[in-house]
Amino acid sequence: MSAERDKMTGRLRKYHSNFYYVEADGVQYECALRGLIKKEGTEPLVGDFVELDSVQPQSKTARIHRVLPRKNTISRPKLANVDQVFVVYSLKEPEFDPNQMDRYLTHIELAGLKAILCISKTDLAATQADLSRIQTLYGEQLGYTVVFSSVRQPETLQVLSKLAEGKISVLAGPSGSGKSSLLNALNPALQLRVGEVSEKIARGQHTTRHVELLTLFADQPDTLIADTPGFSNLKLNYVLPDRLRDAFREFAPYQSACAFSDCLHVDEEGCAVLAHRADIAESRYQSYLNMLAEARQHKEAVNSTSQKAEFGYKQLDRKGKDALRILRLKEKNRDASRRVVRQQVSQLEGDLSEDLRFPDVDAE
Ligand code: ZN
Repeated sequence: MSAERDKMTGRLRKYHSNFYYVEADGVQYECALRGLIKKEGTEPLVGDFVELDSVQPQSKTARIHRVLPRKNTISRPKLANVDQVFVVYSLKEPEFDPNQMDRYLTHIELAGLKAILCISKTDLAATQADLSRIQTLYGEQLGYTVVFSSVRQPETLQVLSKLAEGKISVLAGPSGSGKSSLLNALNPALQLRVGEVSEKIARGQHTTRHVELLTLFADQPDTLIADTPGFSNLKLNYVLPDRLRDAFREFAPYQSACAFSDCLHVDEEGCAVLAHRADIAESRYQSYLNMLAEARQHKEAVNSTSQKAEFGYKQLDRKGKDALRILRLKEKNRDASRRVVRQQVSQLEGDLSEDLRFPDVDAE
C-alpha cells in the first residue's frame, strides 16, 4: 500500500471509454473526474493541463481535480492548447492547388491557430521555379513558414522536427498529400499507430470516443501530435463575410483606408484594397471571392430566419391590435432576431471547430 500523494499537475494525453489518461512526471495515470467538474462547465479536453488529487502511484490512478486555464480549443477531435497546424500539401500527385491551400489557411486563421505550410514530395518538382513560386507568395508575401519536404531527403525532415518541438501540432491536408509517409519518415513507430487508427476509420469500426496525443519522438515528451490527421469539410458556410475578410492578412495594410468600414473589397466605391489589387496575388483574391460567395450565402440564410420572424409580427399589426403592444412585440422580436443571429454566430464558431476536424473519429 503506497501513500496517497498530494496534488500534482500533468497533461491530459488521451481520452478513451470515459477514462482520462494524464501524463505527470513521466507516469501515465488513469483518471476519473471529480464529480462537480462537468457541472462547473469545464470538461477536460485532451491537451489540457490538469491538477490531480487522490494520486495512487502504485495503481497509477488519480482523480482530475481541476482543469488549468487553456489557450484554445478545437472540436472533432476535441483538443485544447493546440499550437499549430501543419498543412501538408504535395507539389505533384496530386498537383498543388493554391485555392485549396487558401481554404485550409483561412480555416486555420479563423480558428486563431498558427499555420505552417509543408509542401511534400518536392523530389517530384519539375523545376526550381515551382518551389520558388510557392515560397514567394506564402513565405515572403504572406509571412507563413513554408517547409519543403521530401521523405527522400532526410535533411528536410529535420526542419519539420525542429518546428514541432515542444508543441501540440495537428496535421491537415488532402488525402494523398503524403501526411502518412511524412509521419512514417519522422518516426516509424508513430506511423504504425496513425495507420491503425485511419484503417479503423476507413472500415467504420472506430466508433468509440477516442482522442489521443502521441509523442512524435520518444525522447521529447512535450512534442505532441494529434493521432488522426486531416480536416474534412472545407466549405466556408459558417462564417459571415466581414470575418472572412479579416482572415486575409494581405488586406490588413490597406483596409483601414477603405471609404466604408464594412467594405468587402469587391466593387465598393473608395476601396483601398482594390486600389492595391496589383500587390495582391491573383490566386489569393480569387480564393477570397470564392469563399466570400459561400459566406454571403450563409449570411442570407441567417437573415431570412430573422425576416420570417419580423413578417409574422407585421401580420399581427394588420389585424389592428393594440399599437403599443405590437411595438413591444416588435422590440422583443428584434431582440429575438438578434438572438437568432447571435446563436447562429456562436453555432458557426462551433462549426468552425467542427471543420477543424478529423474524419468523424468520435461520431456516435
Ligand atoms: Zn475595401
